[in-house]
Amino acid sequence: MRSSGIKRKRGGQKGHKGYGRKRPVRVDEEKRIYLEKCPDCDCRLNRSNTTKSHTVENIPGIEESTVKAVRYHTEVQWCPKCKKVER
Ligand SMILES: [Zn+2]
Repeated sequence: MRSSGIKRKRGGQKGHKGYGRKRPVRVDEEKRIYLEKCPDCDCRLNRSNTTKSHTVENIPGIEESTVKAVRYHTEVQWCPKCKKVER
């Protein structure tokens, strides 16, 4: 005897939607980028814990055969004077 239809998976499988571009799996170098001053008003900016990161892959040259991936962590910094986010 088997019961049927009680525990059924609802709907299809929810997959993660990609953001349109693929990310390299390997990262060779990580760099943190932040601003000391606002480029517009020269006002001193506070460091931020919020970062935006993106990875840049260098196209290998003739001698190098490996792609070097550098991950940049850009701090999202708020300028109170310009009332905008510098990044
Ligand atoms: Zn500013």
